Amino acid sequence: MLDQITCDEQLARLSGLDYFPSANGRKNLLLAMREFPEAEKLRAFITSWLRHETHTPKPADLYAELPPHEQHQPLSYRCAICCDSGLDYADFLVTWHGERKTSVRLTAEQADALWERHCTAQAEADALARAGKFVEANNLRKDRCLQLGTQMIYERSVPCTCRQSGPPVQLPPGK
Ligand SMILES: [Zn+2]
Repeated sequence: MLDQITCDEQLARLSGLDYFPSANGRKNLLLAMREFPEAEKLRAFITSWLRHETHTPKPADLYAELPPHEQHQPLSYRCAICCDSGLDYADFLVTWHGERKTSVRLTAEQADALWERHCTAQAEADALARAGKFVEANNLRKDRCLQLGTQMIYERSVPCTCRQSGPPVQLPPGK
């Protein structure tokens, strides 16, 4: 099973493709990536995908690449969210204020809405650029697209709810 950082990196390589999925879809892609026996195999698959396809792969495309015994291995995890790794994913909106940056955790719905707004604006800007309207395209990107150095959505691992202990025990007032 592959580590999260490797899978995150490979997922990020797909983010420019058509139909890049929302939070739940990304989670399913990551689960499929984690089943790869070696990081090198996953990297090679993503590289070849990027050369030949313009849309994001579906989890089934990834599972189809696995050796037969990995495909049919029954998965029995105690926690279906993190597959017992103890790590889940959350989206954070990072905003730069000069040198400083702040990071706010987003709900899956908020992250999806922001991604969608970004992708729509990106597509409109691309259309303008194709029509030769480069200034308009640039302005639109500046106004409505997420950009490194100003505002960006980051997906980052967080402790899974299955590993978070309950509320801290209230000790009786001491003497
Ligand atoms: Zn868990």
